[in-house]
Amino acid sequence: MNILMVAAECVPFIKTGGLADVVGTLPKYLKQQGHDVRIILPKYRQIDGVKYNLTTLPFRLSVMVGKEQESFRIKTCMLDGNIPVYFVENMRYFNRLGVYGDDNGIGYGDNRERFIFFSKAAIEAVKAIMFRPDIIHCHDWHTGLIPAYLKTTNSHDGFFWNTSTIYTIHNIAYQGSFDAASTLPLAGFSWEDYKSDKLEFYNTFNYMKAGLAYCDIISTVSPTYAKEIQGDAGKGMQVVLQPRKNDVYGILNGIDYNYWNPKTDKNIVANYSAENFENKVLCKKYLQEKCNFKVDESKFVLGCVSRFDTQKGFDLIMDAIGRIQNLNTQIVILGSGSREIKDGLLYLQHLYPDTVRIFTDYNEPLSHQIYAGADAFLMPSKFEPCGLSQIIALAYGTVPIVNKTGGLADTIENFSQSKFTGNGFVFDLYAGESFVDKINNAYDIYKNKFLWDILIKNCFNSNYSWDNSVKEYEKMYNVAIQRRLNYVIYGI
Ligand code: ADP
Repeated sequence: MNILMVAAECVPFIKTGGLADVVGTLPKYLKQQGHDVRIILPKYRQIDGVKYNLTTLPFRLSVMVGKEQESFRIKTCMLDGNIPVYFVENMRYFNRLGVYGDDNGIGYGDNRERFIFFSKAAIEAVKAIMFRPDIIHCHDWHTGLIPAYLKTTNSHDGFFWNTSTIYTIHNIAYQGSFDAASTLPLAGFSWEDYKSDKLEFYNTFNYMKAGLAYCDIISTVSPTYAKEIQGDAGKGMQVVLQPRKNDVYGILNGIDYNYWNPKTDKNIVANYSAENFENKVLCKKYLQEKCNFKVDESKFVLGCVSRFDTQKGFDLIMDAIGRIQNLNTQIVILGSGSREIKDGLLYLQHLYPDTVRIFTDYNEPLSHQIYAGADAFLMPSKFEPCGLSQIIALAYGTVPIVNKTGGLADTIENFSQSKFTGNGFVFDLYAGESFVDKINNAYDIYKNKFLWDILIKNCFNSNYSWDNSVKEYEKMYNVAIQRRLNYVIYGI
């Protein structure tokens, strides 16, 4: 199959969250299955052309955004030596300090325009490079307009007659909802398509809705989240998803175990493995030093690496920090995003300087050091489409403490002291009390080295690699191709 991934982020080039991990990793596994996979991304200022050896293709293209003609170039390089990646370069839209907005998590005022441009440019770029995709796999609202363009403004373009579209929801909270009166003409759609079963969504023009209404198949990133978003957790989108319930797939994300591997990880001070994890304590001591904590291996070190967003349960974390000061804990948090959360956490660091350390940047090496050095990993998300951080923590033998929601429910099971089963601690009522109970529970087990070592082994044995998920993606792509055929031949 010819598969084109279109997304706003992709590791190693640009990352703000799990979306980038998925877009940068799934293609490698599809490639191993023999598919021709390519990726299109915006060329942000942060993507270093020299480091990635980008070359510029010898033509200039343009698309209309409203009444303006916007031109762009395509830069390219290879991911892993065999996956072509194309970067859409336009200074006006992507040559900025942030990816989606400023440091405080405030989105750019022209994001709707930036991703109209990017979606149109991706469609033109794929034609220019003469790569005829069987599948265009669109990720999140930034690319939601692509399925809509292919079935409206570009429906007569023979280049795409055999092209099916997949729209993957990585997080239903980010929909790209804009004022219709100004956005529709900017995007170049006809008012005839502004209907409740097409582009219109509660009197707004919503990019995710556009993707869901026009794509051939919908997917999201865990089976539980797929069910949840068809109900109350759908943030309004359940009315679109329910009628298409047979087209909704929930496929769990995996992680790249070559990259997230404590045995070979160069970012950590001492390597260790599932077979021999004695060195994990050296990583813990290193982390304690880095945090200016007392270096003491008996301390129960709780780590967290996360976007600062209310979704991630920071109200529970902040509440818990005060309530667990009586335990022998140290808490280290790395994150960036919401100013309010950042200030709240920094205040707690000020109150408890000996036991709380907050790092407020985006820091890949430090994230590895926390995954390796912490004993347990806090992830009390209010909702969580899949969650990669808890899976990464498992790979480093660091025990997740999570809320039972979405992908967290699909990957983490409560530890049973009697059966020795389970790989973490799971609470199922989103409340400070339940979270603190689980931390206490974890601390009790931690004090029993025999049980804690069993639990660590269970973490190491939890395998969420892409090997399984890639097969499910292939099956889904085949269904999408069939759907497209039905659409072209029978109009359904
Ligand atoms: P989401 O996509 O909602 O942000 P995930 O758990 O799916 O959450 O993925 C988060 C990814 O981003 C993980 O790889 C995590 O390590 C990484 N990450 C989040 N914040 C930071 C940060 N401040 N520094 C480094 N890595 C981070």
